[in-house]
Amino acid sequence: MSERIKQIVIVGGGTTGWMAAASLSRYIKDKEMFVTLIESPDIGTVGVGEATIPNIVGFNKELGIDEVELIKATQATFKLGIEFEGWHKKDKNFFHPFADYGLPINNIDFHHYVNRAKASGGEHNLQDYSFACELARQGKFAQSNSDPQSPLADYSYAYHLDAGLYAKFLSEFSVKEGVEHISANVCGVNLQNDSGFIESVTLGDGRHIAADLFIDCSGLNALLIDGAMNVGIDDLSKWLPCDRAVAVQTELVGEPTPYTRAIARDAGWQWSIPLQHRMGNGYIYSSQFLDNQAAEDALLMSVEGKAINKVRQFNLPLAKRKVIWKKNCFALGLAAGFLEPLESLGLSLIQTALSKLYTFFPDKSFNEYDIAEVNRLHNAELDQVVDFLAMHYKLTKRDDTEFWRYCQNMPISDALTHKIEVFKSQGQVVMYNNESFEQSSWLSMYHGFDITPARFDIRAKNIDVSVIEKNLMQMRNSMNNAAKQAMSHQEFINKHCRAPRDT
Ligand SMILES: Cc1cc2nc3c(=O)[nH]c(=O)nc-3n(C[C@H](O)[C@H](O)[C@H](O)COP(=O)(O)OP(=O)(O)OC[C@H]3O[C@@H](n4cnc5c(N)ncnc54)[C@H](O)[C@@H]3O)c2cc1C
Repeated sequence: MSERIKQIVIVGGGTTGWMAAASLSRYIKDKEMFVTLIESPDIGTVGVGEATIPNIVGFNKELGIDEVELIKATQATFKLGIEFEGWHKKDKNFFHPFADYGLPINNIDFHHYVNRAKASGGEHNLQDYSFACELARQGKFAQSNSDPQSPLADYSYAYHLDAGLYAKFLSEFSVKEGVEHISANVCGVNLQNDSGFIESVTLGDGRHIAADLFIDCSGLNALLIDGAMNVGIDDLSKWLPCDRAVAVQTELVGEPTPYTRAIARDAGWQWSIPLQHRMGNGYIYSSQFLDNQAAEDALLMSVEGKAINKVRQFNLPLAKRKVIWKKNCFALGLAAGFLEPLESLGLSLIQTALSKLYTFFPDKSFNEYDIAEVNRLHNAELDQVVDFLAMHYKLTKRDDTEFWRYCQNMPISDALTHKIEVFKSQGQVVMYNNESFEQSSWLSMYHGFDITPARFDIRAKNIDVSVIEKNLMQMRNSMNNAAKQAMSHQEFINKHCRAPRDT
């Protein structure tokens, strides 16, 4: 039997590096395995990445982190989903909740009954059947309830958190769990002559740090996976039109919304992310249609509070590595690729890649079939995510700027065309294995972009439409009443997890 991995080196101490360190130190309880994280004292982190999706809650819970402690330490607020403003048409908004729309009845998905009622002349909005949408509409927050009969069942939540504080929190956690932290610049990567495996990295002070497995979390520098392993990239700019961003933090004005706002602008979209102590704002745009100064001006004109830092500019290298795992080098986070942050997936992709690493955890033989399988799964997952993101642009009906006209005509993959056309025809949501977004997310998009299917599932006719109407009304009322009883988002925070101002 091949020897076990004993030494792991993580290069990079941004959110990715510390998420990897924290989870390795907790999940792999092998007393003979040591984890070292090397972080440059000179090269900063990206420092954005403040909106998340619900699997972050599970990630922290599985590490044994106390939720209230984490929220206070990261100035976090709760997130029920994303409000898309002006995407379909300039004056129309829709909500993408972390929630299902009703439960299947007789094994037929709930939305078919709504479509059946609509086809019979009823006025229905799918969003009225999601408790998370109702809470968001009322600016409320409540934690979900596992009782399936409760309107508080069937939804999840995520956080808006301060990315820098989250990395700091995880670094303290990891060091307590035994991770060795080296503050130094990696200046060289040394390969074994015969195998091409990474043998060690060289630090600025001349030290060589050897390991069995290297995890590249060096951000866009991608020192190991690109610099040393040279795996190449797949360019994604054909599918994703926005390649630049400007970001600024502002003072908080009013109460924090329990959701992220994604506001369509003339040449892209603007995010608005409330934390307990400030707002995060940014404009993601296409450099083909807007220059950097105009983007900065547009952002500063539209934010409500006073700016509390300088506007930062970002190039968005829309690309993924052809593989994230080669020999003994595994890449995570920005080193593995960059998709734009429209659905706040950055941190989630770190988690799903880590989970694949654990499922196929190597020994020193680094089985090439295991590695190929991880790369296959990862690439399939990313292809679905890219399609999901591309759909936000492609389905617009806006034609008021050159950018939106471009989006309507931009190419999309055959797989995405297939999904959209099947939904248009039958109201059925095509799902592939290991999708990051669930059926309800795809439904949110189809519904938000006003795609009404030509048909509903024929079996939905087995229930009389008057019975469907009556049940839909009861459901709306019960959700509305339950939301009215919930606390406002701000009250909930004040009562349970108010952070000190100067965390
Ligand atoms: C504009 C924008 C908005 C985003 N919004 C979101 C969002 O809302 N939600 C979300 O989930 N994600 C978002 N992301 C993605 C998210 O920011 C990243 O996934 C996350 O911050 C992880 O970054 P990282 O740790 O991989 O890289 P970085 O933060 O760049 O960290 C890289 C680390 O590597 C170290 N390093 C680099 N070179 C060396 C060297 N030679 N020697 C030693 N150390 C080195 C650096 O010091 C640093 O510690 C956004 C990204 C951008 C650009």
